[in-house]
Amino acid sequence: MVADTQALGERWSNWAGNQTARPRTVVHPQGVEEIAAAVRAAADAGRTVKPIGTGHSFTGVGAPDDVQMTLERHAELTHADPATGLVTVDAGMSIHDLSLALADRGLALTNLGDIDVQTISGALNTGTHGTGLGYGGLATQIRGLTIVLADGSVVHADDTENSDLYAAARVGLGAFGVVTSYTLQAVPAFGLHAIEEPSTFEELVDDGRFTELAETVDHTEFYWFPHTSGCLLKRNTRVGLDDLQPLSRWAAWRDDELLSNTVFGLTCSLGKAMPALIPRINRLASKALGRREFTAASHEVFASSRRVRFVEMEYNLPRAELTSVLQELRAFLDSAGLEISFPIEVRVAAPDDIWLSTAYERESAYVAVHVVRGSAYDRYFHGVEKIMSQVGGRPHWGKMHFLDAAALGERYPRFADAQAVRDRVDPNRVFANDYSLRVLGA
Ligand SMILES: Cc1cc2nc3c(=O)[nH]c(=O)nc-3n(C[C@H](O)[C@H](O)[C@H](O)COP(=O)(O)OP(=O)(O)OC[C@H]3O[C@@H](n4cnc5c(N)ncnc54)[C@H](O)[C@@H]3O)c2cc1C
Repeated sequence: MVADTQALGERWSNWAGNQTARPRTVVHPQGVEEIAAAVRAAADAGRTVKPIGTGHSFTGVGAPDDVQMTLERHAELTHADPATGLVTVDAGMSIHDLSLALADRGLALTNLGDIDVQTISGALNTGTHGTGLGYGGLATQIRGLTIVLADGSVVHADDTENSDLYAAARVGLGAFGVVTSYTLQAVPAFGLHAIEEPSTFEELVDDGRFTELAETVDHTEFYWFPHTSGCLLKRNTRVGLDDLQPLSRWAAWRDDELLSNTVFGLTCSLGKAMPALIPRINRLASKALGRREFTAASHEVFASSRRVRFVEMEYNLPRAELTSVLQELRAFLDSAGLEISFPIEVRVAAPDDIWLSTAYERESAYVAVHVVRGSAYDRYFHGVEKIMSQVGGRPHWGKMHFLDAAALGERYPRFADAQAVRDRVDPNRVFANDYSLRVLGA
């Protein structure tokens, strides 16, 4: 039985608005039994199922063509042990709600990305990451998962039980089954001492300061304003919760809402209407950056609100290649005749052992490029992809790229093993969509 069908033909669109689909049926199951029944019913009818989160991926990874499954009714923290930090969470819970529920119990996720409105399952399935050389992507916090496979069976997977499924489905692109819950390793709640200040490309990249900071600061990243040497450097250091000194409400509103969203949105619109002005706007914006310093609970510092809609590509590369790649990117931007308003984001991460993780077995840097929603990105993103491909770059599964399974197979040592697990657990491709067929193979 496929429960709770919504009107046929309702249109689905992602956050960025660059992916759309028209699912034939939308189901909102609650609990493992309803999820398994919905999968079984769809599979028996020869249909496909796409479990989705909040649509914050820029690729079609979550585009639902047939049965769209949303898990907002399956979104509780069901177990938390403050002594060990092990917690079990339903797949549909948002990272925001999970962080609040953990904070109530004196716990936190050890690292997060830039936003927290996604579902935990969506974030994990695409290899979402933050920054910090001592910290892997979010999926490195998984200790076990429960998944409904294409035949409706409910299977637990961890390091010792179904370990190949575990290695593949932790960053699984929704292509191995519907994950119903995760057991995660949380840590005692902590604060972050944040310092944000202007810097320059020459200092951070050419003179190697970012390389040094990445090795000494817990979580560091920078944004570079294209066509200028201006950068915004962020350094977050882990501290206890005793000495929090958050920004005043006014300062937080001014910086995070007024400047980062409203004013930034206006300058992006201006740049979109008059591209020739972009280099001047970026110079002004990078000069206007001030310094700020504060200490707050980790989840409040890691994540912020993003209201200016954009389309993004992000590549993982070996960290040792970062300096030369950024210099090549600067040369490309100098010569390509492109006008790019959106800052380029640079982060780092620890290696991991997850087969389809972009950071699989390599100390990593991430370079993310963006355009305002509705702007052309083909030439920019193709140019960036070419630079990243020269160093074996691996694209974020949830962000734009142009690679297919043949190219990706060469960049992931365990790609064929992941494909073999998929062939075994989903031979009829119940969980396929156009994107998974392209990037994992038919
Ligand atoms: C403004 C913005 C900021 C971002 N910042 C970052 C960042 O800092 N770092 C980063 O790495 N990424 C970032 N992302 C990307 C984002 O984290 C990922 O695209 C993430 O997948 C979005 O989660 P979602 O809930 O929207 O999932 P969706 O996009 O809806 O789905 C993603 C995938 O998860 C699968 N899935 C969902 N639920 C299940 C389930 N229960 N079982 C199996 N598969 C499932 C879907 O099938 C799909 O394949 C950002 C995106 C945006 C729009």
